[in-house]
Amino acid sequence: MRVNCEGCAGCCVDWRALSATPDDHERVGPERPLDDVYNLVPLTRDEVRDFVNAGFGDALTPRLWERDPASENESDDAASGRTVDVDGFDVAAIAGRPAFFVGLRKPPKPVAPVGTDESTWLPTCAFLDPESLQCRIHGDDLYPDECATYPGRNLLMDVESVCERVEREFGEPGERLVEKSVPEDAAPLFGPQALGGKVFAHPEPDALDGRVDRLAAGEPTDDDRAEFVGTAAAASPGMLDRNDDAYERYRARALDADSWVGAAIDDWQARADGADATNAEDDAEPALGERVEEARGAPETPGWD
Ligand code: SF4
Ligand code: SF4
Repeated sequence: MRVNCEGCAGCCVDWRALSATPDDHERVGPERPLDDVYNLVPLTRDEVRDFVNAGFGDALTPRLWERDPASENESDDAASGRTVDVDGFDVAAIAGRPAFFVGLRKPPKPVAPVGTDESTWLPTCAFLDPESLQCRIHGDDLYPDECATYPGRNLLMDVESVCERVEREFGEPGERLVEKSVPEDAAPLFGPQALGGKVFAHPEPDALDGRVDRLAAGEPTDDDRAEFVGTAAAASPGMLDRNDDAYERYRARALDADSWVGAAIDDWQARADGADATNAEDDAEPALGERVEEARGAPETPGWD
């Protein structure tokens, strides 16, 4: 497998607004994400712990799924614990416990991805340098396995990758996904070992009242995110149970997080909200990354030369 990522970032940015035929590949099948994040990067239990321990609990956010109301056997699903009602949503569940991923947040940033020239405000991974379109944690200890292996799992399962979608709309075949052999480390995390490893289950649906509503509205609070982050960090691979001591510890650490990522997300959001006003400083200028992220401690990226 070989990819040409220069000027792309198609898997790090929600570029549906630039597309004439925006796809919704995360919303196929009977379970639909409650959030509208495109290309969420699901983290493993150990990665969630590493991010929290490194002080980046404020970079993480959960994803839950709603059972498509049009799907059949709705009552069977509830009776068998495959769904549970929280805030009026039929939330996908495992043995009656709401199931979720933990991924990286995507604030609006001024970017010109997928080979386009003009920058615009688009939901973008918290760790993407908006100017170079390179990952600020590429190759370091926190670099998620999901990103390091992308699009290996797509090739393994013969599912179209974002690289190919970018080619289809903004380039030529083979321009992004240059070579298609399946890498050796592309094994998907499916089956029982996924539970507690990458798919988590919250043991107390009642504790999620109000939180699910806010997640579906795209407005989770810090406390909402920490509740799921702490639960994921306290999971055990292959098991449903949560270690409550670990949960309390990781939840508190996630809530205390005060990293450059969290501060930059707030700043980006405020600038994007104000971008309609006549404030030249809030123009969609990728070089703002220097002031918004690097001045707060974000690692620089090397550029493409
Ligand atoms: S979509 Fe493919 S080519 Fe584009 S940045 Fe991601 S891995 Fe690279
Ligand atoms: S962690 Fe890096 S490679 Fe992964 S989505 Fe974010 S910016 Fe892209």
